[in-house]
Amino acid sequence: MTVAGLDSSRLRVKITGRSLPRCADEDLGFGTVITDHMLKVEWSVERGWNAPMIIPAGPVGLHPFAHVFHYAVECYEGMKAYVDANGDVRLFRPRMNMQRFRTSAKRLSLPDFDGEELLKCIETLVDIDKDWIPRKRGFSMYLRPVIFSTTPWLGLTQCAEAMILVLCCPVGPYFKSGFVPIKLSVDAKYIRAWPGGTGNVKAGGNYGPTVISQANATAAGASQSLFVYDKHEYVTEAGTMNVFFLIRNERGVKQLITPSLEDGTILPGVTRQSVIELSQQWGECETIERMIPFGDIKAAFERGDVLEIFGTGTAAVIQPISGIVYEGVEYKPITEFNDKALQVRLTNFLVSVQYGDIDHPWSHVVPKSTWSKR
Ligand SMILES: *Cc1c(COP(=O)(O)O)cnc(C)c1O
Repeated sequence: MTVAGLDSSRLRVKITGRSLPRCADEDLGFGTVITDHMLKVEWSVERGWNAPMIIPAGPVGLHPFAHVFHYAVECYEGMKAYVDANGDVRLFRPRMNMQRFRTSAKRLSLPDFDGEELLKCIETLVDIDKDWIPRKRGFSMYLRPVIFSTTPWLGLTQCAEAMILVLCCPVGPYFKSGFVPIKLSVDAKYIRAWPGGTGNVKAGGNYGPTVISQANATAAGASQSLFVYDKHEYVTEAGTMNVFFLIRNERGVKQLITPSLEDGTILPGVTRQSVIELSQQWGECETIERMIPFGDIKAAFERGDVLEIFGTGTAAVIQPISGIVYEGVEYKPITEFNDKALQVRLTNFLVSVQYGDIDHPWSHVVPKSTWSKR
């Protein structure tokens, strides 16, 4: 038997007979409502990828020994679908997500697949559940591709069986408070990622252990942790977002700085990359990726040279940060948060691209699919 690649032309669609409960847009949280359908693709080492299937969303049966349960052999993606003014569905730079999904899967010894083929299956899924996408600004449909090892024995071996699921949920604004700044607290105890680890891939195992840190942030009066590592306290990420600082350096030069990808502790965010590219194009300041010891930021705070701080990620797009708590002291950026702020202009631009107000190569129109029931 030949080992098959993931092939969208073999996609089978089973439409649900009973639509799942919906909820009013205003009541949508983040990832609480699942849409009618999901994509499922199974893999085995002998046969390769089975025919992809779009089926009614619901429970998945797994062997209790499945590696995912015991060894967290799992990674995921996060992307969003938006409806534009013409009623077309759009994705934002989805090929970057497919590429990153493959990179994460490789790091976890999960099987590789053709990203273009998976994207085609996802497009069909989105088209089928398109009427679940809320039309209101700030609302969208979050897509959660996930791949995990279903290898059904306890020995920690190479992956023999795996599964991809793609789940969809209509979502409102990530932070209920909306476009409102949040506070971060530097976590002095727990480390999210380190050189040689898995911080640069979206492995589920990176996230479970940060929940405890979230509780510490809350106790410090903040809503997310700013993760650092090593005696230099290199800044890594703000909760599950990449982090940016707009500062003036010692010579008074304006710089937008974000941790570089070089040490493998930073998740290469699609939003991060987009902000870097926009900032470079706009040319209002230097755009710099580098290792950032927290002491550099603290010194800039002490000079009054921290202009803006924000987090980036698909869920929130851009999240303004109003202050950072470090050793019990809160440090604040000096710029008033208004329409002139760089982060507000970046957000407006990105959102206009995502919703198709501006024609831009980053926005990908989902073709009307020609799926048929089989
Ligand atoms: C997903 C994620 C991000 C943001 O990536 P985007 O592609 O912009 O959504 C940033 N940091 C972490 C830790 C993440 O998991």
